[in-house]
Amino acid sequence: MSNNKIIVATGNKDKVKEIKDEIGSSFEMLTMKEAGIDVDIVEDGKTFEENALIKVRTIKPYIKDKDHTILMADDSGLCVDVLNGAPGIFSARYAGPNATYLDNNQKLLDAMKNVPPSKRDAEFVCSIALIFPDGEEWTCRGVVHGKIAMDITGHDGFGYDPLFIENQSGLTYAQMSLEEKNKISHRSIAVAKACEKIKSKINA
Ligand code: IMP
Repeated sequence: MSNNKIIVATGNKDKVKEIKDEIGSSFEMLTMKEAGIDVDIVEDGKTFEENALIKVRTIKPYIKDKDHTILMADDSGLCVDVLNGAPGIFSARYAGPNATYLDNNQKLLDAMKNVPPSKRDAEFVCSIALIFPDGEEWTCRGVVHGKIAMDITGHDGFGYDPLFIENQSGLTYAQMSLEEKNKISHRSIAVAKACEKIKSKINA
């Protein structure tokens, strides 16, 4: 199966690298752009799984070597209990369509300014969707539990990293090195599950 490819429906090379690290060298891995696919993806699903599936289904018609190509996409975000799961699937654009990470963090801090530490539970979620050459569609989910910090804490990472205190370590994602975060993150949990599925399906 050495000529198998995985095309990841993302423009984000860091995501592709993370998946490559997990799955090893038996697959050629390409971003949409590297595969020559230029299509707008309208993420109008109601769940992370629906949005991840929308991404892989959107690029499916553009695949040339259909018999040897696995399609992969992820969708992720932060869900806060006291906000009924917000920002959730709207995490990237919580403070508006052109919001920066800082804008989003500030909006979240404002929304929670009167919430005590005991009620600041949250979870980071990542869903991954796959479409295999035989047409099988498959999804999985990685979840990490934590709390929303009272203020920006830590300098590393991106997005909501400085506000998310991971429960086991008591550190925000932004206080961890990328290597530490990648060992435990919602995305790495989902990527590991997806890699297991790919390996079992392809070797079956
Ligand atoms: P995406 O679907 O992976 O592009 O993520 C959507 C949004 O969720 C990002 O723009 C971030 O705001 C947030 N997000 C997802 N994963 C992380 C993470 O690991 N750290 C911080 N923010 C994240």
